[in-house]
Amino acid sequence: LGNRLTGVFDKLRRRGALTDADVQEALREVRVALLEADVALPVVKDLVTRVRERAVGQEVIRSVSPAQQVIKIVNDALVEALGGGEGDDGKRGLDLNAPSPVPILMVGLQGSGKTTTSGKIALRLRTRDRKKVLLASLDVHRPAAQLQLQTLADQAEVTGLPIIAGQTPRQIAERAMDVGRRELYDVVILDTAGRLAIDEALMAEVAEVKAFVKPHETLLVVDAMTGQDAVNTAKAFQEKVGVTGIVMTRVDGDARGGAALSMRAVTGAPIKLLGAGEKLDALEDFHPDRIANRILGMGDIVSLVERAAETIDQAEAEKLAKKMQKGSFDLEDYASQLKQINKMGSLSGILGMLPGVGKIKSQIENANLDQTMLKRQAAIISSMTPKERRNPDLLKASRKRRIAAGSGTTVQDVNRLLKQFDEMSAMMKRMNKLGQKGLMRGGLG
Ligand code: GDP
Ligand code: MG
Repeated sequence: LGNRLTGVFDKLRRRGALTDADVQEALREVRVALLEADVALPVVKDLVTRVRERAVGQEVIRSVSPAQQVIKIVNDALVEALGGGEGDDGKRGLDLNAPSPVPILMVGLQGSGKTTTSGKIALRLRTRDRKKVLLASLDVHRPAAQLQLQTLADQAEVTGLPIIAGQTPRQIAERAMDVGRRELYDVVILDTAGRLAIDEALMAEVAEVKAFVKPHETLLVVDAMTGQDAVNTAKAFQEKVGVTGIVMTRVDGDARGGAALSMRAVTGAPIKLLGAGEKLDALEDFHPDRIANRILGMGDIVSLVERAAETIDQAEAEKLAKKMQKGSFDLEDYASQLKQINKMGSLSGILGMLPGVGKIKSQIENANLDQTMLKRQAAIISSMTPKERRNPDLLKASRKRRIAAGSGTTVQDVNRLLKQFDEMSAMMKRMNKLGQKGLMRGGLG
């Protein structure tokens, strides 16, 4: 996916500005990418339309390529569709703003992670929010279900409602709320039974409990790995039961996260939490920007673009990239690289944002390229003659001594710089081979 998109954007980059055709072409690929990430077709169509309207006719930011701009527009639309911008007022997480005990009803299909998530939320509320939490299982269908929840309650060090055989889900819910009131619990989490598939009996049972308890939060738990099915599940639960939020589990798997986008679009309910593992502490807040990245598969190119837009001079970057490709990258170019890097923050930080360059990044980090070093290196290069900068091979012992004296450094410093330069040239050749050409031309130079 990443490669596919990079390929398209590579093509776009070579032109001066975005044309209608450019945008159409990029969006054709984006469409496929989104579908591959499990985003539902109507949602994809809607998103693509929105991006097209926004992209065509938009003024091209001078310092980034049109292609990078498209990435950013697609990304921003994704973040928006996932609920970005909400939650600054604390709305995104669980809403406990109600009289105690606040009832939370967990609903969803069997195996989606309801019971586990109940335990996770209980643990978080107890430890982070200092809440007194009561856990109650309304799952009377599977004999082991209530014991499973009690085990999790023990692990989370919260109370589980004592199990009484023969009660209906509604009776258990009633008892839980009673205990919650009498014993002054802050939150009562009601874990319901699931079925393997949506059926009327399940919906009726959940709806009855819901009508009785009037939960402040009704959280639909869905398995991210089920892709399109998750969306159908979410739709059915929203229509038949009504939910206030979604918890997406198994995001620790390799699902692309497209289901999140679809569920959000289809139900209108916010995604509130993510389950990222079997352990009780594997509960995460939902960050629209992170999921957008995961869906688009473009690493953190967007933030690279944001920073590059402010600092990088496109023409200079292109000139440097050409030289690099021809292998005629010299110390003069290295010096102007250093200047760019200085403007943008650390080099390893920049490299870290590009997908697929993790290995090179650690090499750079090992080379200990910090800001002081960058400044010293710039001083050394400015003490060289233009001829020396173009041809570092000229630099024998006596010249090195002169340069060291001129820049207030030592011969070791000069040697270190030359070694660094060699490594950098080699690295850039490798990066070109890695297929990051487009990026380098437009961004890093
Ligand atoms: P329920 O039937 O909806 O109550 O689902 P359970 O809570 O019993 O979970 C079913 C299985 O999924 C269990 O083995 C859990 O350990 C596992 N599980 C739940 N949440 C997650 C998660 O976020 N990641 C992973 N990898 N496994 C999970
Ligand atoms: Mg369960």
